[in-house]
Amino acid sequence: MVTRPNESVSEDFNPWTHVSSLIERAGHLLQLDEGMIKRIITPERILEVAVPVRMDSGNVEMFTGWRIQHDTSRGPGKGGIRFHQSVNVDEIAALSADMSIKCAVVNIPYGGAKGGVRVDPTTLSPAELERLTRRYAFSIAPVIGPETDIPAPDVNTDPQVMSWIMDTITMLRGYSAPGVVTGKPLAIGGTLGHAGATSLGVTICTLALLKNLARSPENERVIVQGYGKVGSPLVKLLSERGMKVVAVADVKGAIHVPEGIDPDALARHYGEAGTVVGLPGSDTVDPDQFWSVPSDIAIPAALGGVITEKVAETITASVVVEAANGPTTGEGAAVLHERGVPVVPDVLANAGGVVASYFEWAQDLQGYMWEKELFHQRLEKTMHEAFDAIWIRHGELGVNLRETALAVGVERIAEATRLRGLFP
Ligand code: GLU
Repeated sequence: MVTRPNESVSEDFNPWTHVSSLIERAGHLLQLDEGMIKRIITPERILEVAVPVRMDSGNVEMFTGWRIQHDTSRGPGKGGIRFHQSVNVDEIAALSADMSIKCAVVNIPYGGAKGGVRVDPTTLSPAELERLTRRYAFSIAPVIGPETDIPAPDVNTDPQVMSWIMDTITMLRGYSAPGVVTGKPLAIGGTLGHAGATSLGVTICTLALLKNLARSPENERVIVQGYGKVGSPLVKLLSERGMKVVAVADVKGAIHVPEGIDPDALARHYGEAGTVVGLPGSDTVDPDQFWSVPSDIAIPAALGGVITEKVAETITASVVVEAANGPTTGEGAAVLHERGVPVVPDVLANAGGVVASYFEWAQDLQGYMWEKELFHQRLEKTMHEAFDAIWIRHGELGVNLRETALAVGVERIAEATRLRGLFP
Protein backbone atom coordinates (compact mmCIF):
# COMPACT_ATOMS: atom_id res chain seq x y z
CA MET A 1 0.00 0.00 0.00
CA VAL A 2 1.69 3.17 -1.15
CA THR A 3 -0.81 5.58 0.22
CA ARG A 4 -3.77 5.97 2.50
CA PRO A 5 -6.07 3.07 3.17
CA ASN A 6 -9.38 3.98 4.69
CA GLU A 7 -12.10 1.47 4.97
CA SER A 8 -12.25 -1.82 3.20
CA VAL A 9 -15.24 -2.63 1.00
CA SER A 10 -14.90 -6.36 1.01
CA GLU A 11 -12.40 -8.72 2.57
CA ASP A 12 -11.04 -9.93 -0.71
CA PHE A 13 -11.17 -6.94 -3.03
CA ASN A 14 -10.16 -3.38 -2.22
CA PRO A 15 -10.39 -1.28 -5.40
CA TRP A 16 -8.01 1.38 -4.10
CA THR A 17 -5.26 -1.11 -3.25
CA HIS A 18 -5.82 -2.67 -6.65
CA VAL A 19 -5.61 0.57 -8.67
CA SER A 20 -2.68 1.99 -6.74
CA SER A 21 -0.71 -1.21 -7.26
CA LEU A 22 -1.48 -1.08 -10.99
CA ILE A 23 -0.19 2.50 -11.21
CA GLU A 24 2.88 1.54 -9.21
CA ARG A 25 3.59 -1.34 -11.58
CA ALA A 26 3.18 0.95 -14.58
CA GLY A 27 5.59 3.42 -12.97
CA HIS A 28 8.18 0.66 -12.53
CA LEU A 29 7.69 -0.50 -16.11
CA LEU A 30 8.41 3.08 -17.23
CA GLN A 31 11.34 3.30 -14.80
CA LEU A 32 9.93 6.39 -13.12
CA ASP A 33 11.51 7.36 -9.83
CA GLU A 34 9.69 6.43 -6.61
CA GLY A 35 8.90 10.09 -5.79
CA MET A 36 7.12 10.53 -9.10
CA ILE A 37 5.21 7.27 -8.67
CA LYS A 38 4.03 8.28 -5.20
CA ARG A 39 3.03 11.70 -6.45
CA ILE A 40 0.97 10.20 -9.25
CA ILE A 41 -0.75 7.67 -7.00
CA THR A 42 -1.68 9.95 -4.10
CA PRO A 43 -5.04 11.71 -4.53
CA GLU A 44 -4.67 15.50 -4.51
CA ARG A 45 -7.85 16.20 -2.58
CA ILE A 46 -10.40 14.11 -0.72
CA LEU A 47 -13.54 15.89 0.40
CA GLU A 48 -16.01 14.04 2.59
CA VAL A 49 -19.37 15.68 3.21
CA ALA A 50 -22.38 15.01 5.40
CA VAL A 51 -25.59 15.15 3.40
CA PRO A 52 -28.65 15.68 5.61
CA VAL A 53 -31.92 15.19 3.74
CA ARG A 54 -35.46 15.94 4.88
CA MET A 55 -37.42 12.87 3.93
CA ASP A 56 -41.05 13.03 2.78
CA SER A 57 -42.03 11.76 6.23
CA GLY A 58 -40.59 14.93 7.80
CA ASN A 59 -37.67 13.06 9.41
CA VAL A 60 -34.09 14.04 8.60
CA GLU A 61 -31.75 11.29 7.42
CA MET A 62 -27.98 11.56 7.15
CA PHE A 63 -25.99 10.35 4.16
CA THR A 64 -22.26 10.55 3.42
CA GLY A 65 -20.81 11.81 0.16
CA TRP A 66 -17.37 12.32 -1.34
CA ARG A 67 -15.67 14.20 -4.14
CA ILE A 68 -12.10 13.19 -4.82
CA GLN A 69 -9.70 14.92 -7.18
CA HIS A 70 -7.00 12.44 -7.93
CA ASP A 71 -4.64 14.25 -10.31
CA THR A 72 -5.06 17.56 -12.10
CA SER A 73 -1.68 17.90 -13.76
CA ARG A 74 -3.19 17.53 -17.26
CA GLY A 75 -6.23 19.72 -16.66
CA PRO A 76 -9.30 20.13 -14.44
CA GLY A 77 -10.61 17.08 -12.63
CA LYS A 78 -13.22 15.09 -14.54
CA GLY A 79 -15.37 12.18 -13.53
CA GLY A 80 -18.83 11.01 -12.64
CA ILE A 81 -20.93 10.97 -9.51
CA ARG A 82 -22.53 7.73 -8.37
CA PHE A 83 -25.36 7.11 -5.95
CA HIS A 84 -25.11 3.61 -4.54
CA GLN A 85 -25.42 1.91 -1.19
CA SER A 86 -21.94 0.40 -1.49
CA VAL A 87 -20.10 3.69 -2.20
CA ASN A 88 -17.14 4.30 0.09
CA VAL A 89 -13.99 6.40 0.04
CA ASP A 90 -11.73 3.60 -1.23
CA GLU A 91 -14.01 2.95 -4.17
CA ILE A 92 -14.29 6.65 -5.09
CA ALA A 93 -10.52 7.11 -4.76
CA ALA A 94 -9.92 4.14 -7.05
CA LEU A 95 -12.42 5.41 -9.59
CA SER A 96 -10.90 8.90 -9.48
CA ALA A 97 -7.48 7.41 -10.27
CA ASP A 98 -9.05 5.44 -13.12
CA MET A 99 -10.37 8.73 -14.48
CA SER A 100 -6.87 10.30 -14.42
CA ILE A 101 -5.59 7.35 -16.45
CA LYS A 102 -8.65 7.25 -18.73
CA CYS A 103 -8.45 10.94 -19.68
CA ALA A 104 -4.72 10.55 -20.37
CA VAL A 105 -5.26 7.37 -22.44
CA VAL A 106 -7.71 9.13 -24.77
CA ASN A 107 -5.54 12.22 -24.58
CA ILE A 108 -8.13 14.79 -23.51
CA PRO A 109 -7.04 17.77 -21.38
CA TYR A 110 -8.38 16.61 -18.04
CA GLY A 111 -7.23 15.15 -14.79
CA GLY A 112 -9.24 12.56 -12.87
CA ALA A 113 -11.92 12.95 -10.23
CA LYS A 114 -14.94 11.06 -8.93
CA GLY A 115 -17.76 11.57 -6.50
CA GLY A 116 -20.48 9.62 -4.86
CA VAL A 117 -23.07 9.41 -2.14
CA ARG A 118 -23.65 6.26 -0.13
CA VAL A 119 -27.38 5.85 -0.66
CA ASP A 120 -29.71 3.36 -2.27
CA PRO A 121 -31.54 5.75 -4.62
CA THR A 122 -34.28 3.21 -5.31
CA THR A 123 -35.55 3.85 -1.78
CA LEU A 124 -35.94 7.61 -2.37
CA SER A 125 -38.94 9.45 -3.81
CA PRO A 126 -38.19 11.84 -6.71
CA ALA A 127 -38.45 14.80 -4.31
CA GLU A 128 -36.05 13.16 -1.83
CA LEU A 129 -33.62 12.40 -4.66
CA GLU A 130 -33.71 16.05 -5.73
CA ARG A 131 -33.10 17.30 -2.17
CA LEU A 132 -30.23 14.85 -1.71
CA THR A 133 -28.66 15.88 -5.02
CA ARG A 134 -28.95 19.60 -4.32
CA ARG A 135 -27.53 19.32 -0.81
CA TYR A 136 -24.63 17.18 -2.04
CA ALA A 137 -23.99 19.66 -4.89
CA PHE A 138 -24.00 22.53 -2.40
CA SER A 139 -21.55 20.69 -0.16
CA ILE A 140 -19.05 20.02 -2.92
CA ALA A 141 -19.60 23.45 -4.58
CA PRO A 142 -16.34 24.90 -3.16
CA VAL A 143 -14.27 22.38 -5.12
CA ILE A 144 -16.15 22.00 -8.41
CA GLY A 145 -16.45 24.35 -11.40
CA PRO A 146 -15.79 24.49 -15.15
CA GLU A 147 -12.11 25.28 -14.56
CA THR A 148 -11.53 23.05 -11.53
CA ASP A 149 -13.53 19.84 -11.54
CA ILE A 150 -16.44 18.84 -13.75
CA PRO A 151 -18.79 16.03 -12.58
CA ALA A 152 -20.89 13.85 -14.88
CA PRO A 153 -23.34 10.96 -14.60
CA ASP A 154 -22.21 7.57 -13.36
CA VAL A 155 -23.98 4.64 -11.66
CA ASN A 156 -27.60 5.66 -10.80
CA THR A 157 -27.22 9.30 -11.82
CA ASP A 158 -28.64 10.75 -15.04
CA PRO A 159 -29.28 13.98 -16.99
CA GLN A 160 -31.98 15.00 -14.47
CA VAL A 161 -29.53 14.71 -11.58
CA MET A 162 -27.00 16.74 -13.63
CA SER A 163 -29.67 19.41 -14.21
CA TRP A 164 -30.20 19.79 -10.45
CA ILE A 165 -26.46 20.07 -9.88
CA MET A 166 -26.10 22.64 -12.66
CA ASP A 167 -29.02 24.64 -11.23
CA THR A 168 -27.69 24.51 -7.66
CA ILE A 169 -24.26 25.78 -8.74
CA THR A 170 -25.79 28.40 -11.03
CA MET A 171 -27.93 29.70 -8.14
CA LEU A 172 -24.93 29.79 -5.81
CA ARG A 173 -22.67 31.58 -8.27
CA GLY A 174 -25.29 33.95 -9.66
CA TYR A 175 -24.52 33.26 -13.31
CA SER A 176 -25.33 30.41 -15.65
CA ALA A 177 -22.72 27.68 -15.28
CA PRO A 178 -23.53 24.96 -17.83
CA GLY A 179 -19.85 23.93 -17.97
CA VAL A 180 -19.89 22.78 -14.33
CA VAL A 181 -21.32 19.36 -15.19
CA THR A 182 -21.62 17.26 -18.34
CA GLY A 183 -24.23 14.74 -19.37
CA LYS A 184 -26.93 17.42 -19.12
CA PRO A 185 -30.17 17.44 -21.11
CA LEU A 186 -29.97 19.25 -24.45
CA ALA A 187 -32.18 22.13 -23.29
CA ILE A 188 -29.61 23.32 -20.74
CA GLY A 189 -26.32 22.91 -22.58
CA GLY A 190 -26.12 19.16 -23.11
CA THR A 191 -24.80 17.85 -26.38
CA LEU A 192 -26.33 15.74 -29.11
CA GLY A 193 -24.72 12.32 -28.85
CA HIS A 194 -23.77 12.19 -25.16
CA ALA A 195 -26.35 9.50 -24.40
CA GLY A 196 -24.98 6.27 -25.78
CA ALA A 197 -21.44 7.63 -26.26
CA THR A 198 -19.92 5.14 -23.80
CA SER A 199 -21.66 2.28 -25.60
CA LEU A 200 -20.44 3.58 -28.96
CA GLY A 201 -16.87 3.68 -27.64
CA VAL A 202 -17.20 0.12 -26.31
CA THR A 203 -18.48 -0.99 -29.72
CA ILE A 204 -15.60 0.74 -31.54
CA CYS A 205 -13.06 -0.93 -29.23
CA THR A 206 -14.72 -4.35 -29.65
CA LEU A 207 -14.64 -4.04 -33.45
CA ALA A 208 -11.05 -2.78 -33.43
CA LEU A 209 -9.95 -5.69 -31.24
CA LEU A 210 -11.69 -8.24 -33.47
CA LYS A 211 -10.02 -6.71 -36.52
CA ASN A 212 -6.59 -6.93 -34.91
CA LEU A 213 -7.28 -10.56 -33.98
CA ALA A 214 -8.32 -11.22 -37.60
CA ARG A 215 -11.85 -12.10 -36.47
CA SER A 216 -14.98 -10.86 -38.16
CA PRO A 217 -17.86 -9.47 -36.05
CA GLU A 218 -20.43 -11.61 -37.88
CA ASN A 219 -21.96 -14.12 -35.52
CA GLU A 220 -19.57 -13.46 -32.66
CA ARG A 221 -21.62 -14.44 -29.60
CA VAL A 222 -21.64 -11.69 -26.97
CA ILE A 223 -22.83 -11.69 -23.38
CA VAL A 224 -23.53 -8.35 -21.69
CA GLN A 225 -23.84 -7.95 -17.93
CA GLY A 226 -25.90 -4.82 -17.21
CA TYR A 227 -28.82 -3.30 -19.05
CA GLY A 228 -28.63 0.31 -17.88
CA LYS A 229 -27.26 3.48 -19.45
CA VAL A 230 -24.37 1.59 -21.03
CA GLY A 231 -25.67 -1.97 -21.46
CA SER A 232 -28.92 -1.17 -23.16
CA PRO A 233 -27.64 0.99 -26.08
CA LEU A 234 -24.71 -1.43 -26.30
CA VAL A 235 -26.92 -4.46 -27.01
CA LYS A 236 -28.44 -2.53 -29.92
CA LEU A 237 -25.13 -1.21 -31.30
CA LEU A 238 -23.40 -4.61 -31.17
CA SER A 239 -26.35 -6.24 -32.94
CA GLU A 240 -26.34 -3.53 -35.61
CA ARG A 241 -22.67 -4.24 -36.26
CA GLY A 242 -23.35 -7.92 -36.92
CA MET A 243 -22.63 -9.47 -33.54
CA LYS A 244 -25.08 -11.81 -31.83
CA VAL A 245 -25.93 -10.84 -28.26
CA VAL A 246 -26.89 -14.20 -26.73
CA ALA A 247 -27.23 -13.34 -23.03
CA VAL A 248 -27.97 -10.25 -20.96
CA ALA A 249 -28.08 -9.83 -17.18
CA ASP A 250 -29.50 -7.06 -15.01
CA VAL A 251 -29.88 -6.69 -11.24
CA LYS A 252 -33.00 -8.87 -11.27
CA GLY A 253 -31.65 -11.83 -13.27
CA ALA A 254 -30.28 -13.03 -16.58
CA ILE A 255 -31.59 -14.38 -19.88
CA HIS A 256 -30.17 -16.51 -22.70
CA VAL A 257 -31.25 -16.76 -26.33
CA PRO A 258 -28.73 -18.94 -28.22
CA GLU A 259 -29.89 -17.65 -31.65
CA GLY A 260 -29.35 -14.03 -30.55
CA ILE A 261 -31.54 -11.49 -28.76
CA ASP A 262 -33.66 -9.05 -30.80
CA PRO A 263 -32.49 -5.73 -29.27
CA ASP A 264 -35.75 -3.91 -30.04
CA ALA A 265 -37.88 -6.67 -28.53
CA LEU A 266 -35.65 -6.59 -25.44
CA ALA A 267 -35.95 -2.80 -25.14
CA ARG A 268 -39.76 -3.05 -25.39
CA HIS A 269 -39.91 -5.87 -22.86
CA TYR A 270 -37.62 -3.99 -20.44
CA GLY A 271 -39.80 -0.87 -20.80
CA GLU A 272 -42.83 -2.85 -19.66
CA ALA A 273 -41.35 -5.30 -17.17
CA GLY A 274 -38.47 -3.26 -15.71
CA THR A 275 -36.16 -6.26 -16.15
CA VAL A 276 -34.69 -8.34 -18.96
CA VAL A 277 -36.06 -11.46 -17.23
CA GLY A 278 -39.10 -12.94 -18.93
CA LEU A 279 -38.27 -11.81 -22.47
CA PRO A 280 -40.54 -14.03 -24.60
CA GLY A 281 -38.50 -16.84 -26.16
CA SER A 282 -35.61 -16.56 -23.70
CA ASP A 283 -34.34 -19.03 -21.10
CA THR A 284 -33.72 -17.72 -17.62
CA VAL A 285 -30.12 -18.15 -16.45
CA ASP A 286 -28.97 -18.40 -12.86
CA PRO A 287 -26.88 -15.19 -12.39
CA ASP A 288 -24.09 -17.36 -10.93
CA GLN A 289 -23.93 -19.23 -14.25
CA PHE A 290 -24.03 -16.09 -16.40
CA TRP A 291 -20.35 -15.96 -17.34
CA SER A 292 -20.36 -19.64 -18.29
CA VAL A 293 -23.00 -19.17 -20.98
CA PRO A 294 -21.28 -20.19 -24.26
CA SER A 295 -19.94 -16.99 -25.84
CA ASP A 296 -17.03 -15.45 -27.72
CA ILE A 297 -17.02 -11.97 -26.17
CA ALA A 298 -17.93 -11.03 -22.59
CA ILE A 299 -18.80 -7.45 -21.71
CA PRO A 300 -19.29 -6.48 -18.07
CA ALA A 301 -21.35 -3.27 -18.20
CA ALA A 302 -22.52 -2.88 -14.61
CA LEU A 303 -20.57 -2.62 -11.36
CA GLY A 304 -16.95 -3.30 -10.39
CA GLY A 305 -15.24 -6.45 -9.09
CA VAL A 306 -17.48 -8.97 -10.90
CA ILE A 307 -14.85 -10.89 -12.86
CA THR A 308 -13.23 -12.66 -9.95
CA GLU A 309 -10.67 -15.45 -10.08
CA LYS A 310 -13.49 -18.02 -10.10
CA VAL A 311 -15.37 -16.28 -12.91
CA ALA A 312 -12.16 -15.88 -14.92
CA GLU A 313 -11.55 -19.62 -14.65
CA THR A 314 -14.97 -20.55 -15.99
CA ILE A 315 -15.70 -17.75 -18.46
CA THR A 316 -16.20 -19.22 -21.93
CA ALA A 317 -15.53 -16.01 -23.90
CA SER A 318 -12.14 -15.66 -25.57
CA VAL A 319 -12.22 -11.86 -25.31
CA VAL A 320 -13.35 -9.45 -22.54
CA VAL A 321 -14.23 -5.80 -23.13
CA GLU A 322 -14.68 -3.77 -19.94
CA ALA A 323 -17.62 -1.41 -20.34
CA ALA A 324 -18.00 -1.02 -16.56
CA ASN A 325 -15.41 0.65 -14.36
CA GLY A 326 -13.10 -1.81 -12.58
CA PRO A 327 -15.07 -4.98 -13.39
CA THR A 328 -12.08 -7.34 -13.14
CA THR A 329 -10.27 -8.05 -9.88
CA GLY A 330 -6.46 -8.40 -9.82
CA GLU A 331 -6.75 -12.19 -9.43
CA GLY A 332 -9.36 -12.34 -12.18
CA ALA A 333 -7.07 -10.37 -14.48
CA ALA A 334 -4.15 -12.71 -13.74
CA VAL A 335 -6.22 -15.78 -14.62
CA LEU A 336 -7.49 -14.22 -17.87
CA HIS A 337 -3.91 -13.30 -18.79
CA GLU A 338 -2.70 -16.86 -18.12
CA ARG A 339 -5.55 -18.24 -20.18
CA GLY A 340 -4.58 -15.93 -23.07
CA VAL A 341 -7.88 -14.01 -22.99
CA PRO A 342 -7.27 -10.43 -24.16
CA VAL A 343 -9.03 -7.78 -22.09
CA VAL A 344 -9.73 -4.28 -23.41
CA PRO A 345 -9.42 -2.39 -20.11
CA ASP A 346 -12.06 0.01 -18.80
CA VAL A 347 -9.80 3.05 -19.11
CA LEU A 348 -9.85 2.56 -22.87
CA ALA A 349 -13.05 0.62 -23.58
CA ASN A 350 -15.49 2.87 -21.72
CA ALA A 351 -13.76 6.20 -22.38
CA GLY A 352 -16.38 7.20 -24.99
CA GLY A 353 -18.43 8.72 -22.17
CA VAL A 354 -15.76 11.07 -20.96
CA VAL A 355 -14.76 11.98 -24.51
CA ALA A 356 -18.41 12.97 -25.07
CA SER A 357 -18.23 14.97 -21.85
CA TYR A 358 -15.16 16.77 -23.13
CA PHE A 359 -17.02 17.76 -26.29
CA GLU A 360 -20.02 18.94 -24.26
CA TRP A 361 -17.83 21.02 -21.94
CA ALA A 362 -15.93 22.53 -24.89
CA GLN A 363 -19.25 23.54 -26.49
CA ASP A 364 -20.52 25.03 -23.20
CA LEU A 365 -17.35 27.07 -22.68
CA GLN A 366 -17.50 28.31 -26.25
CA GLY A 367 -21.26 28.86 -26.19
CA TYR A 368 -21.43 27.24 -29.61
CA MET A 369 -23.18 23.91 -30.16
CA TRP A 370 -22.08 21.34 -32.74
CA GLU A 371 -24.14 19.20 -35.11
CA LYS A 372 -24.50 15.52 -34.24
CA GLU A 373 -22.43 14.44 -37.26
CA LEU A 374 -19.41 16.44 -36.09
CA PHE A 375 -19.80 15.01 -32.60
CA HIS A 376 -19.89 11.40 -33.82
CA GLN A 377 -17.07 11.93 -36.30
CA ARG A 378 -14.80 13.32 -33.58
CA LEU A 379 -15.81 10.69 -31.04
CA GLU A 380 -15.05 7.85 -33.45
CA LYS A 381 -11.73 9.44 -34.41
CA THR A 382 -10.65 9.93 -30.80
CA MET A 383 -11.56 6.36 -29.83
CA HIS A 384 -9.88 4.83 -32.90
CA GLU A 385 -6.70 6.81 -32.32
CA ALA A 386 -6.63 5.82 -28.65
CA PHE A 387 -7.20 2.15 -29.42
CA ASP A 388 -4.56 2.08 -32.16
CA ALA A 389 -1.99 3.84 -29.97
CA ILE A 390 -2.52 1.30 -27.18
CA TRP A 391 -2.46 -1.64 -29.59
CA ILE A 392 0.84 -0.54 -31.17
CA ARG A 393 2.42 0.24 -27.81
CA HIS A 394 1.28 -3.12 -26.44
CA GLY A 395 3.29 -4.81 -29.18
CA GLU A 396 6.34 -2.72 -28.25
CA LEU A 397 6.09 -3.12 -24.48
CA GLY A 398 5.23 -6.81 -24.56
CA VAL A 399 2.69 -6.49 -21.73
CA ASN A 400 -1.07 -6.96 -21.87
CA LEU A 401 -3.54 -4.27 -22.94
CA ARG A 402 -4.37 -3.19 -19.38
CA GLU A 403 -0.73 -2.77 -18.42
CA THR A 404 -0.08 -0.93 -21.68
CA ALA A 405 -2.99 1.48 -21.15
CA LEU A 406 -1.86 2.08 -17.58
CA ALA A 407 1.69 2.73 -18.79
CA VAL A 408 0.56 5.14 -21.52
CA GLY A 409 -1.69 7.00 -19.06
CA VAL A 410 0.95 7.18 -16.34
CA GLU A 411 3.58 8.28 -18.85
CA ARG A 412 1.43 11.21 -20.00
CA ILE A 413 0.59 12.23 -16.43
CA ALA A 414 4.28 12.01 -15.47
CA GLU A 415 5.22 14.21 -18.42
CA ALA A 416 2.73 16.91 -17.38
CA THR A 417 3.85 16.65 -13.74
CA ARG A 418 7.49 16.97 -14.72
CA LEU A 419 6.87 19.91 -17.03
CA ARG A 420 4.88 21.79 -14.42
CA GLY A 421 7.41 21.17 -11.66
CA LEU A 422 6.57 21.34 -7.98
CA PHE A 423 4.81 24.28 -6.37
CA PRO A 424 5.99 26.39 -4.55
N1 GLU B 1 -18.89 8.23 -15.48
C1 GLU B 1 -18.21 8.13 -16.73
C2 GLU B 1 -16.90 7.40 -16.57
O1 GLU B 1 -16.69 6.71 -15.62
C3 GLU B 1 -18.05 9.48 -17.41
C4 GLU B 1 -17.26 10.47 -16.66
C5 GLU B 1 -17.32 11.86 -17.28
O2 GLU B 1 -17.88 12.03 -18.35
O3 GLU B 1 -16.79 12.78 -16.65
O4 GLU B 1 -16.07 7.44 -17.43
